[in-house]
Amino acid sequence: MVKFLLQIAADLENLTNLQPQEGCNDPNFSYLFKLKCERCGELSQRETCVSLNETVPLPSGKATVNLVQKCKFCGRDGTLTMMPGHGKPLTQEMCEERKFSPLMMFECRGYEPVDYVFAGGWKVESLRSLSFSIKILRLVHLMSISYSRGGNCRK
Ligand SMILES: [Zn+2]
Repeated sequence: MVKFLLQIAADLENLTNLQPQEGCNDPNFSYLFKLKCERCGELSQRETCVSLNETVPLPSGKATVNLVQKCKFCGRDGTLTMMPGHGKPLTQEMCEERKFSPLMMFECRGYEPVDYVFAGGWKVESLRSLSFSIKILRLVHLMSISYSRGGNCRK
């Protein structure tokens, strides 16, 4: 089980609080990734889309996750579960300090999310009325924050 924290960075001029339309826990905000199979290393050909309001029950019926997907190459099932409550709007202060802002945490089993795709549905607040600009610098930084299997831990 690996947890990934999606973090964003951008250059905001006269803008602040870049975040999904309904906030960082926006139930309808879509996250698009390519997934890499942990067993065979195969990268899914198309992006997978997950959002908080779309859940599927596990075959065992014990829990719900946001995605169950079978690797087309080796046939292994993998799951992805979104963990809201970790996100923060990206403020202008953070941009000036070149800091990343956490957006969403994902718990992955059997897959590693790669290649986050920037899609619509963001909002940002204007600090001054007339001129503003936004330049997405490093939208994405996927960081593996914990990993454990057989008692081994790594960052
Ligand atoms: Zn595979």
